[in-house]
Amino acid sequence: MTDIWSVQKRSEVMSLIRGKGNRTTEGRMIELFRESGIKGWRRHQPLPGRPDFTFRREKVAIFVDGCFWHGCPDCYRAPKSNVEFWKRKVDGNRRRDRRVTRQLRSTGWSVVRVRECVLKRSPVAVARRVWRALRVAP
Ligand SMILES: [Zn+2]
Repeated sequence: MTDIWSVQKRSEVMSLIRGKGNRTTEGRMIELFRESGIKGWRRHQPLPGRPDFTFRREKVAIFVDGCFWHGCPDCYRAPKSNVEFWKRKVDGNRRRDRRVTRQLRSTGWSVVRVRECVLKRSPVAVARRVWRALRVAP
C-alpha cells in the first residue's frame, strides 16, 4: 500500500482542509438547531478560540470539532507520512482546545464540545446537551 489514505478518506481530509475545519459539520449543526427549535445562536464571535456557535445571553459556547484536526480519541488515525509534523499539529490543537475551554469556563461560559462523529452518530444526544447547557445557564 503506497497511499496513506483511501480515496474516500482523502476526499474527506481535503474537504476539511478546504472548509478550514468544519464547514460540513457546522452545516449539520445548524440543521440540528433548526430541527430542535434552538434559536439565538451567533457565529464566530470574538471570544477565545472563536467558538463555532455562541449564545450570548446564556453564555454558552459551542465548538464543533472535526475528528481529524482535533485528534478524536475514537476516530483519529495518524497519517503515515510526515509523522512528526502531524503529531505536533494535532497535539497542539488538542492543547489549544483544552486551554480555550478552561479560559472560557473561567469567565463564566459553559462550553459544549461536539465531536464530528458524535454529531453524525447521535444528533439527538447532541441537541439534548445543547438544550441542557442553555437551560442551566444563568
Ligand atoms: Zn470522532
